[in-house]
Amino acid sequence: MLDFTPSNEQVMLIDSVRAFIEKEIRPHEDRIEELGYVPEELEKDIRRKSIEAGLYLRHLPEEWGGLGLDHVTQTLLTFEFAQASSGLTVCTGGPTYILTKCRGEQVERYLNPALRGERAEAFALTEPDAGSDARNIKTRAVKDGKHWVINGRKHFISEGDLADFFIVMCVTGEDETPRGKQKRITSFLVDKGTPGFDVRKMEAVCTRGYNPTDLTFDNVRVHESQILGEEGQGFDLANEWLYAGRIAMAAYCVGQTRRVLAMTNDWAASRKAFGQTISRFQGVSFKIADVATELRAAELMTLNAAWKLDQGTCTRLDTSTCKLFASEMLGRATDHAVQIFGGMGLMMELPIQRYWRDARVHRIWEGTSEIQRHIISRDLLRPHEQNA
Ligand SMILES: Cc1cc2nc3c(=O)[nH]c(=O)nc-3n(C[C@H](O)[C@H](O)[C@H](O)COP(=O)(O)OP(=O)(O)OC[C@H]3O[C@@H](n4cnc5c(N)ncnc54)[C@H](O)[C@@H]3O)c2cc1C
Repeated sequence: MLDFTPSNEQVMLIDSVRAFIEKEIRPHEDRIEELGYVPEELEKDIRRKSIEAGLYLRHLPEEWGGLGLDHVTQTLLTFEFAQASSGLTVCTGGPTYILTKCRGEQVERYLNPALRGERAEAFALTEPDAGSDARNIKTRAVKDGKHWVINGRKHFISEGDLADFFIVMCVTGEDETPRGKQKRITSFLVDKGTPGFDVRKMEAVCTRGYNPTDLTFDNVRVHESQILGEEGQGFDLANEWLYAGRIAMAAYCVGQTRRVLAMTNDWAASRKAFGQTISRFQGVSFKIADVATELRAAELMTLNAAWKLDQGTCTRLDTSTCKLFASEMLGRATDHAVQIFGGMGLMMELPIQRYWRDARVHRIWEGTSEIQRHIISRDLLRPHEQNA
């Protein structure tokens, strides 16, 4: 029988994350909401403190200096980190797993500084004409001697304002496959400041401090040693990270719902109308019951997917169902929360409006809800169609 009761070691880690959030993150949250960005000195300070607390590489295996945690434990920690501002918590975590694919001189130039918290990266796939349909990207890299020349545009790239370099997915050719011609996609490591490479901030209504950016590449020359992995392996690299990324996103939604539910319970149990607390009205308390019920389901689905990832048995169905359910649950939970807070739910002086705004993006990034439904239904129906 599966038992997700945290072990003593997991409880200690969860407690240290909670203490870190209360001391180092929570005091700055309102300021980041007002500013809309994370000042550089604060970003550096949080990185340094996260390294000192031993939390910075919590998601990486020990061979890269990480904590070597299993995915269940990582999920339990994400439940906690998700309860604080994303613009700030992102500074507590080191480089993406994909960067561990650095080889040769890339290790000293990109990976090691990223592991030490000295340089940060962003991941650039999406383009104005290619979001869900990611294989249709148009940013192209053309070989020129020992260099490649990149032209094109990316948008919505998170943390581009804080990043020092970017993992950029480019088309480098075309391959014949059993499913017809397919674009050959290659990952390049591109430094901010390379001539012809421009990074511009975009304004989003959500996740303030964790900002999307627009990237343009106008004859940007990069050396062939800046290819991450092999030419044509761009999607293979990204797909290795896909399952863990979707589970992390579901865990993020679970953590946010926990926080929203706690704030809603406090409000409902203290706000009075018609001579009693509003928690005594079923129109209010049943909404809370519904959120709590869905939250339990999402927690278990997410932990189960993480456990299967640890066992090597995780499927697309596991990750898509938990990402879909948890992100849509968060949407319902924040909507109920605003309703229960009444007019105050929409005022900037309380944080509930922030959770409501931030919730929306989880149904869009890491594969929209429609794409998750497409994956789930195809995986379920394909065998039936083949047998029909
Ligand atoms: C704040 C933010 C941060 C982001 N950060 C990053 C980042 O760091 N790096 C990065 O590369 N990308 C990033 N993204 C991009 C994100 O992954 C895309 O927005 C997402 O993949 C959807 O693409 P799109 O916005 O172009 O929508 P589209 O693909 O244009 O979709 C529009 C609508 O059509 C629907 N649709 C499309 N295809 C189908 C289909 N086959 N069946 C049914 N419905 C369909 C979609 O579900 C959606 O409802 C970010 C996005 C946002 C909003």
